[in-house]
Amino acid sequence: MKRVLLLGGTGDALAIARNLPAPHVYSLAGLGRVPADLACSVRIGGFGGIDGLVGYVREEEIALVVDATHPYAAQMSRHAHEACAIARVPLWAVRRPAWQPQPGDDWREAADWRGIVERIAAFRRPLFTLGREPLAHLDEIPASQYWTVRCLEAHPGNERANVIDARGPFDLAGERALFDAAGVDVVVSKNSGGRATEAKLAVARERGLPVVMLARPELPEAGRNFDDAASARDALERWLDPT
Ligand code: NAP
Repeated sequence: MKRVLLLGGTGDALAIARNLPAPHVYSLAGLGRVPADLACSVRIGGFGGIDGLVGYVREEEIALVVDATHPYAAQMSRHAHEACAIARVPLWAVRRPAWQPQPGDDWREAADWRGIVERIAAFRRPLFTLGREPLAHLDEIPASQYWTVRCLEAHPGNERANVIDARGPFDLAGERALFDAAGVDVVVSKNSGGRATEAKLAVARERGLPVVMLARPELPEAGRNFDDAASARDALERWLDPT
């Protein structure tokens, strides 16, 4: 039996995992929710770097690795690429296309946290929607700013920051209400792609607000690439049962 290791942590990965029977494996870093209703095996936690992943692939007799991690989970993607080359196992990747600016958008790219801080310096009420990273900088908030940080972590915030622990999808009405309540004057985002979290971009557009977009990291080439879960699922079905 050809055994698949699916590297997950995204909605696309979960959609693929829902179609995978045992003994295939769905792997999660262990930061978010762990689905309890999958037919395939679920493993949690890192592999221990490239060597650990090579060992896992060999011991578990994995015949194909599918990297469906988030486009900003670059370390895991690099490790998968290296490990598959060493273990001589094919690697596929599911990578959501990046959002593209539309007429009326005012996007300003930042390469890293420092670039983000520079680009929001002139604003007062940034909304951060790029995960946990702002939490490490709550003590550095300038007196002129009040931050709203939406991420998947319960955190008390401080007198200069409100942390909202919320998981997408987010719709237009909800995003408009958040922008109103928080007085948002600039949005800080990853370019995650996909539908679940794009409403904030539409609200920024309709209000003429800038979006500081953290640049996507460089990701290694995979043997096959898929834009979405459905095409990856179809290819997997054919690969598992070519008859
Ligand atoms: P990362 O920086 O690329 O990876 C850090 C380490 O976490 C990896 O070296 C690996 O540990 C472990 N890891 C990551 N994904 C794993 C997986 N699917 N299964 C087993 N171990 C995994 O990743 P990250 O940005 O922290 O993201 C962690 C997880 O959250 C990923 O599953 C990703 O898909 C998901 N996620 C990330 C973002 C984001 O913006 N970065 C957003 C939404 C969801 P070892 O080296 O020990 O193997």
